[in-house]
Amino acid sequence: MAKNPKYVYFFGSGKAEGKAEMKGLLGGKGANLAEMVNIKLPVPPGFTITTELCTYFYDHGRSYPKTLRKEVETALRKVEQVLGATFGDSNNPLLVSVRSGARASMPGMMDTILNLGLNDQTVQGLIRKTKNERFAYDCYRRFVQMYGDVVLGLKPVHKDDIDPFEAIIEEKKKQKGVHLDTELTAEDLKDLVARFKGAIKEKTGNDFPQNPLDQLWGAIGAVFGSWMNDRAIAYRKLYDIPSSWGTAVNVQTMVFGNMGEDSGTGVAFTRDPATGENVFYGEFLMNAQGEDVVAGTRTPLPISDLARNDPKLYKHLDQIRKTLEKHYRDVMDIEFTIQQGTLYMLQCRVGKRTAFAAIKIAVDMVDEGLITDKEAIRRIEPDQLNQLLRPIFDPAQKANAVKEGKLLAKGLNAGPGAASGRVVFNAQDAEEWAKRGEKVILTRIETSPEDIKGMDASEGILTARGGMTSHAALVARQMGKVCVAGCSALNVDYASHTMQVNSQTVKEGDWISIDGTSGEVLLGKVQTRPSEVLQVLIDRTLDSKNAPVYQEFAKMMNWADKYRRLGVRTNADQPDQSVNAVAFGAEGIGLCRTEHMFFGEGKIGPMREMILADTVEDRKKALAKLLPLQRKDFEGIFEAMAGRPVTIRTIDPPLHEFLPHDEAPQKELAAQMGVSYEKVRQRVDSLHEFNPMLGFRGCRLGVIYPEITEMQSRAIFEAAANVKKRGIEVEPEVMIPLVGNVKELIHQEKIVRTVAEQVMQEKGVKFKYLVGTMIEVPRGAVTADEIARVAEFFSFGTNDLTQTTLGVSRDDAGTFLIPYVDREIYAKDPFEAIDREGVGVLMKMAVEKGRSARPTLKLGICGEHGGEPSSVEFCHQIGLNYVSCSPFRVPIARLAAARAALADSAPAKKKAAPKRKGSKRR
Ligand code: PEP
Ligand code: MG
Repeated sequence: MAKNPKYVYFFGSGKAEGKAEMKGLLGGKGANLAEMVNIKLPVPPGFTITTELCTYFYDHGRSYPKTLRKEVETALRKVEQVLGATFGDSNNPLLVSVRSGARASMPGMMDTILNLGLNDQTVQGLIRKTKNERFAYDCYRRFVQMYGDVVLGLKPVHKDDIDPFEAIIEEKKKQKGVHLDTELTAEDLKDLVARFKGAIKEKTGNDFPQNPLDQLWGAIGAVFGSWMNDRAIAYRKLYDIPSSWGTAVNVQTMVFGNMGEDSGTGVAFTRDPATGENVFYGEFLMNAQGEDVVAGTRTPLPISDLARNDPKLYKHLDQIRKTLEKHYRDVMDIEFTIQQGTLYMLQCRVGKRTAFAAIKIAVDMVDEGLITDKEAIRRIEPDQLNQLLRPIFDPAQKANAVKEGKLLAKGLNAGPGAASGRVVFNAQDAEEWAKRGEKVILTRIETSPEDIKGMDASEGILTARGGMTSHAALVARQMGKVCVAGCSALNVDYASHTMQVNSQTVKEGDWISIDGTSGEVLLGKVQTRPSEVLQVLIDRTLDSKNAPVYQEFAKMMNWADKYRRLGVRTNADQPDQSVNAVAFGAEGIGLCRTEHMFFGEGKIGPMREMILADTVEDRKKALAKLLPLQRKDFEGIFEAMAGRPVTIRTIDPPLHEFLPHDEAPQKELAAQMGVSYEKVRQRVDSLHEFNPMLGFRGCRLGVIYPEITEMQSRAIFEAAANVKKRGIEVEPEVMIPLVGNVKELIHQEKIVRTVAEQVMQEKGVKFKYLVGTMIEVPRGAVTADEIARVAEFFSFGTNDLTQTTLGVSRDDAGTFLIPYVDREIYAKDPFEAIDREGVGVLMKMAVEKGRSARPTLKLGICGEHGGEPSSVEFCHQIGLNYVSCSPFRVPIARLAAARAALADSAPAKKKAAPKRKGSKRR
C-alpha cells in the first residue's frame, strides 16, 4: 500500500526535518527556518505544513486529508516537549504564530496570525508566567484583532474607511485622553478585548473561539485560503508566480518583543538593499511586536543604535549576519526578536534589492571570492538594468525649486530614481488615473498589500509613516519604483483628499516630485535628466572614473560578453542612434528601416513626387532627387558603425503612409506638385488600407516598382564605396522585406547585385556585401530552404511574423490581447515575448530548413522581441547568430544572451557563420 505523503515537517532544538533546498515543498520561510536550525542559529521551534497540502486543499474543496490532524498534533506535542509548555494550558500556555510562506517571497500578500492559543483562561496563565498583566492583555488584544480581521473577515468596507478595530482603539484613546497605544493600561486593554469580541459577535453572530485547537485550525484554513485572495493573485500575475505552487503554513512558537524594555523586534538586511553598500542595514523597535516594524505604524530606530543600546546583543546579531552571508553566499533579509535579552531568528530569505544594489553586491561578492562571475550574471535579471538607465532630477532645476521654497519635506530614500506626478490618495484612484494616461504619485499614510495594483500603476510612492523596511519601501524597491517613505511631515487626510505639509495644503491632482535617492519631496514638476550610465556613455558629460555605478555596470557587461554566444546588434536608422547603440555595446545594425529616413529634411517632397508619378520616367526623376539624400544618410551610418555590419532594409511600408490624409494638406500638396487636388485625393484613397497592413508593401513595392529598389541599392553601394575610399571598412547587408515566395527574392536580388557590380566598376572600389531577406510571413518560414538558396542571411521580423501567424493585427490588438493575457490564453503578450508554441515553431523550422540548404546562412532577429529577455533566450536556443534591438535595450540583450548561454549546458557549437572580430555569432 502506498504510504501517506508527509505533510508536516518539524524544526527545533538543533534538528530540522527540512532544509534550504526544500523551498518547493516547505516554501521559502519554512525551508530557511529549517536551514537556520541546521546551522545552529537560535530559532523558536515549530513546524511547517507543506505546499502539497495547499494543492490538496484546493483540489478537494478546501478540505484536508484525514491524516493531517494527527500529523499536526504530533508536531505540536514535539514543540511542547522542547519548551516544557502546553498548548491551551491555563498555567503554562504555549502560544504560536501561524504564517504563510510560498516558494517565492510575496511580502505581505498573504495572512499571518500571532499570539494564537490565548483565551480567557490561558491569558491568566500568561499573566502568572510573565507577571505582567499589561503585556498579557496587549497580546490578547492583538490576537483577537488579527484573528478577527484575517479569519473572521472584519475589514474596512469602503476604500476611505478605517479598520473597524482601529476605530475602537481610537475611540478608547479619545475617551482616556491619550495619544499612544503604549499609554493604555492593562485594564484599558482588557476592555478593548471585550469590545473587540463584542464587535465580532455583532458582525458574525458567533462568539470569539475560545478553544485553542479550533483557533489553530481556523488560522491554518485562513492562511491557506489567503493564497487565493485578490492581492496574492495580483502579485502572482505581476511576478509570474504560478498558482499551482501553493503556499506552506508555518506554525511556530511565539517569542515576544513586547515583554518590556529588554525586549524588541527588528528587520535587517546583511547589506544595504538600496545601494548595495556592505553595511549592516536594518531597523528595530524595543517593546514591540513584528507587525509594528513592518506595518510602519511606529517609526523604528536604525540598527546601529542597537550597538549602543546593547553591545553584546548587537555583536551576536552581527555574528549571525556574517554566518548567514557565508552560508548562503548572498545578501539575506532577516527578522529577529529579542525576548528579555535573548535573541531569536524568525526568518531569513534572500534579500530583495534595487538594481543598483544587485549589481554592486554581485560585483563586490565576486571581488570578495564569495561567488563567481557566472553566478553574478545569473543573479541579475536583465530587465533590472532598466533601473540603471533611469532618469534623475536635473540638479539645476531641483536647486531652483528648493530656492523657490518648493521643498515640502524630507522622508526616507526608500526607492532610488526621480519621479513627478499628480497626487492621489488611494490605490484605486491611482489605477484609474493611470489608466486614463495621468502620471500619479500614490500618497498614503502607509501602504498595505491591498495597494499593490495602485502602486504598480504609479510613477512613485510617498508615505507618511514607516521605515526603510516598511511595506511601501520593500514593494516599491522590488517593483523598481521611486519611493519616499516615512515622511512624517505629511498630514494626510483621506476623507478630504488633501494633505497638510507644514503650512501648505496639497490637494488631489496637484503635481509633486519625489526624489527616491535623497528622500526629498517637492511641490510641482521638476525636469529629469539621464542616469549616471547615460551621462558616461551617451551624453559624455561625466568621466567614468567619477561614476561608480557606471563602473559596476561596465564590469557586469564585460562578464556578460565573455559568456554570451549570441551577437547583439541594434535597430537604428540615424547616425546618432547608431553611435548610442555602439556605446551600449551593439556590434552592428540588424535593421535600418530606410523609410524612416524619408521624413527627414528635404526628403518628403521628392518621395511624394515619386508616389504620385504616372510613368516610370517621372518616378525615376523623383527617385534621382532622393538618391543623393539617401546616400548621405547611409554614409553617416557606415561611418558611425566603422566597419561593423549594417543591415539595410529596402522600403517596406505601404506608400499611403507618406501622403497627407486630410483635405487641406492634400490641396497644398496638389498645388506644390502642379496636379489637381482630385488626383491627390484619388491616389490617397486608392492606396489606403485597413488593418492589418498587409497589402501593397514590403518587397511587393520593389517588385512592382523595381526602380525604387534600384535607387536604394545605388544609394547604399555608392555610400559604401565613398566611405571605403575614406579608409573606413564597410559591411553592407541588403535586406528584402516580407518575402513569402523565393521568386520575389530572386527578382529583387538581381537588381541589388546588378547595381552593386555597376557601382564597384564606376567607383573603382571593391567591397563585400550580402543580400538576404526577412522571414516575417509564414510562407517564408515554410519555404525557407528554397529562400536560403538565394538569401545569404535571414532576419526574423517577428512583429509581422506574429501578426501573420496569429492572424492578429499588430496595430489594434491591445484591446483584446491584454484581456487575453489576463485570461492566460497567452501567457504573455505575443508582441512582447515570442509565442514559442506558434511563432517559435515557424522560426525553428525556418532555421533548420534554411541551414539545410545553406550551412553558412547567417540568422538574426530584428522584431521588437530582440530586446526582450525570454525571447533572447529562445533565439539562443534555436541557434540564431544575433539579436537586434533598440539601442537602450542593447545592455539588456547582452545580459540576457549571457544568461541563456550559461543556462545552456550544451558546449558552444562550432559557429556556422563566418566570423570577424571576437567569438560571437554575428
Ligand atoms: C518586423 O516585422 O518584425 C520588423 C522588424 O519589421 P517592421 O516592424 O518594420 O514591420
Ligand atoms: Mg516587418
